Amino acid sequence: MTAATLLRDVFGFDAFRPGQEDIVNAVVAGQNTLAIMPTGGGKSLCFQLPALIREGVTVVISPLIALMRDQVRGLQEVGVEAGALTSGNTQEETDAVWAALEAGRLKLLYMAPERLSAGGVPQMLRRIGVSLIAVDEAHCVSQWGHDFRPDYLRIGELRRALDVPLAAFTATADAETQAEIVEKLFDGVAPSTFLRGFDRPNIHLAFAVKDQPRQQILAYAAARKGQSGIVYCGTRSKTEAIAAALREAGHVACHYHGGMEADDRRLVEGRFQREDGLIVVATVAFGMGIDKPDIRWVAHADLPKSIEAYYQEIGRAGRDGAPAETLTLFGPDDIRYRRQQIDESLAPPERRMADHGRLNALLGLCEALACRRQNLLAYFGEESDPCGHCDLCDKPAEVFDGTTPVRMALSAVLRTGETYGAGHLIEILLGSDLDRIRERGHDQLPTFGVGKDWSRREWQAIFRQMMGHDLVRPDPERHGGLRMTDRARPILRGEEDISLRADTIKAAKTGNRIKTLVSEEDAPLLSALKAKRRALAEAAGLPAYIIYNDSTLIEMAQKRPQTLDEMAKISGVGAKKLANYGDAFLSVIVGEVEKLHPVRRKMAGRSEADLYDQLLAVQADLARGSDGTGKPMTCTATMLAKVAQLRPADMGGLQRLLGERYAERFGAAFLDVLHQAS
Ligand code: ADP
Ligand code: ZN
Repeated sequence: MTAATLLRDVFGFDAFRPGQEDIVNAVVAGQNTLAIMPTGGGKSLCFQLPALIREGVTVVISPLIALMRDQVRGLQEVGVEAGALTSGNTQEETDAVWAALEAGRLKLLYMAPERLSAGGVPQMLRRIGVSLIAVDEAHCVSQWGHDFRPDYLRIGELRRALDVPLAAFTATADAETQAEIVEKLFDGVAPSTFLRGFDRPNIHLAFAVKDQPRQQILAYAAARKGQSGIVYCGTRSKTEAIAAALREAGHVACHYHGGMEADDRRLVEGRFQREDGLIVVATVAFGMGIDKPDIRWVAHADLPKSIEAYYQEIGRAGRDGAPAETLTLFGPDDIRYRRQQIDESLAPPERRMADHGRLNALLGLCEALACRRQNLLAYFGEESDPCGHCDLCDKPAEVFDGTTPVRMALSAVLRTGETYGAGHLIEILLGSDLDRIRERGHDQLPTFGVGKDWSRREWQAIFRQMMGHDLVRPDPERHGGLRMTDRARPILRGEEDISLRADTIKAAKTGNRIKTLVSEEDAPLLSALKAKRRALAEAAGLPAYIIYNDSTLIEMAQKRPQTLDEMAKISGVGAKKLANYGDAFLSVIVGEVEKLHPVRRKMAGRSEADLYDQLLAVQADLARGSDGTGKPMTCTATMLAKVAQLRPADMGGLQRLLGERYAERFGAAFLDVLHQAS
């Protein structure tokens, strides 16, 4: 079968996502491949489909047991023979995997990297006929990355031992990591490389200046009540405090951080994966283990540490392609804290420089004057038009010429020896009559009191934006005193102007309208479909999205399929899921469901279904012959299905399928139908 047919029949998708088809073709052709695709881009399909097409077993190396188990269950749900060998298996599960392997039925074998260190694994894999190695989260071979897994270094050896093609997948884009993957997995020989765009158009991007951060998060969650979300916080204690506040406000919420017992963490991961509408308030420790496709929103209560971290964290939302929203809060304290973290780290100086650069890129995004996405994608080297789907596209920023106040501020910084923080500098600019100013003689400076045209609050925003534009940096050696950077020189010298945002100076008020995924008319149906999904998921002990994901339910609510055929055309409804759940969801939409012959049910949504229905109608007219007096006769459903599928071109063909007697009665009429259809 071709990839496109399998895509439709097994997975129920009409079309490949961007990039998938090229990758699938390369992997099917047996090339070594490296595919870099954003989270949610649909990487798994790029090795699952080839695994079905190619002879032999595909072994999938994946770093997290929970992820593997979910993928295996997802595959089994669509009727694919897959299994996992992990330390989390029960003996029965392991036995079942072996039985399927020995019987030559298994197509995908998931393995944890730790298994590779056990003796005899390559021999075992060769014996069971492994013909392809797929490596998920391939950036785990990178020693620089925070996801480094020493056992990933054995994958290169395994590839050499088995001498089969290897397909590596990751969402990490930077060039250093790519080079490390090529070196460690492919012995330095560049594989066919696919770099897919980094745009995640279904994710709405928004930033806001911290005003009353807890209130801002509560308001954001309130507008999205009942939808699964993550709130990322900078500290462990904050995760607990915000989770408690959310619970008090009537949400189902729990906290998660690296200081919790492993069991407690797993409990939260499990609940999040399974429950619909849970909010997890977490530090970045809540990360790679999360493979929930239907996270509807991600909020940052504190600024992430870099633009890459930001992209990865918001990227956990909306992997199913349905609308998702994000909000990132930031303030001057965040900027100071992140700088300090970098300066105090033990990394070598070049690394710290690079880290400052990555933080600057994120701050640039915070203080952006136009489309956030354009800014973000430009960082990843992609050009794009304004997206129409971010806060600045929704409502353009108000800007003003900030050159004068910025020069005043820089002058105050320099004249006080680059030793003071924003608080003290602002009092100088405002000309405040304070002891600590007089004692140091700062009331004698030419900048004393020159900034009275701006309020204290406005000055705070100006300093924050100056830090955001990396014009001044807190100097760790001087207890956070602000130092001027080289970037500021042209402005100070009068060679460059700078625009600042006026609107973030005023308190940022986020809209509080209730957000829904579908229009008002479709919302009740979507809720009913979700309730059905929850019931089925609970009965089967599966996460809800394994039954159908959110985008599939949204499409059902909008298109309202009336028949099983129409149901089969909904994206995400493949043959097996149609058979298992089609009726259940159809009955939510239309009430009673018409009972179809099992042979006809199998055809639902395919081109031959229509033909079958026409043949059935024609046959009914001829049940007693063309003059209505003959002996009653009808073809079986299987016979009709054969005619519809094989489409014989002439009477001879029909006779072979139906036999003389039936061909005589129905042949001419059936041929008419077939000719008209072709
Ligand atoms: P990744 O591993 O790249 O983060 P996944 O492989 O988990 O992403 O896929 C994300 C989601 O996209 C899944 O819910 C998957 O079912 C869905 N998906 C993948 N390919 C397609 C496609 N061609 N059409 C529609 N949905 C798809
Ligand atoms: Zn935009």
